[in-house]
Amino acid sequence: MIKTLDLTGSCLLLLLLILPVYSYGQVGQPNKYGLKIISTPAEYIQSVQADSNNLLIDLEKYIPGIKLDIRYATANNFMHEQLYKLPKAFVRLPVAKALKNIQVELAKEGLGLKIYDGYRPYHVTVYFYDKLQDSVFLAVPWRGSRHNRGSTVDLTLISLKTGKELKMPTEYDKISAKADVSYTKLSPRVLRNRNKLLKIMNKHGFEVYKPEWWHFDFKDFAQYDLMDLTFEDILANQPD
Ligand SMILES: [Zn+2]
Repeated sequence: MIKTLDLTGSCLLLLLLILPVYSYGQVGQPNKYGLKIISTPAEYIQSVQADSNNLLIDLEKYIPGIKLDIRYATANNFMHEQLYKLPKAFVRLPVAKALKNIQVELAKEGLGLKIYDGYRPYHVTVYFYDKLQDSVFLAVPWRGSRHNRGSTVDLTLISLKTGKELKMPTEYDKISAKADVSYTKLSPRVLRNRNKLLKIMNKHGFEVYKPEWWHFDFKDFAQYDLMDLTFEDILANQPD
């Protein structure tokens, strides 16, 4: 279309004025559901430059001794297939800071965190839904998951001494009424463990998703954009 324009001086000037606006308009164009999704490294870098809280932090590097068990980087998950190429957990900077404080506090009683999942690319959320069509345990593509915003973590507690998980109401990602935090037909030990997790997460700004005892959203999650960058792209675009 530009080729057909007669680029006289005034027209060229007009184009120069319009082009930056036009280019900016391309950033985070709504997808078919009308969602704005950060899906290129350039868009991600731009968002971090605008607000350093948007930085996605590699939890393994940021929190000494934190344990990861990234099930979606293996076939040991409810989909029975590997969804991530790398066993990594990323969250936004304020979320990482809060988790670091939790890890320090837990260490005083010989406990630590084990992370099952953090930031999840949007296309993985869409894939889950396309396969299973569930809207209680799975986020719907027209809203996206809070995991896609880098504001959410799936985790549990471990003993620092043994590395073993504290006993919780269910396994991770178990689709069951027992996974709901209102479920109480549990042993005193399991109730105590679940309450300990809920209490410390809540104290540091996280709210549990009630049907899943392991899933916690950080406050102000809505301020972070949905993202669809792979872990490889995030690692390749980390500041020094
Ligand atoms: Zn989750």
